Amino acid sequence: MSEGKCMNCEAGSKDRPLVKIEVDGKEERVCVKCLPALIHG
Ligand SMILES: [Zn+2]
Repeated sequence: MSEGKCMNCEAGSKDRPLVKIEVDGKEERVCVKCLPALIHG
């Protein structure tokens, strides 16, 4: 089982908390630092 990395900056959950999201039907992860940027485009 893969640990998962932020789809944007590739930070692992050891670096920052990661949030699971669904993108185009696939489960991805994004860290809390990149999440606001993702929301705001
Ligand atoms: Zn990130």
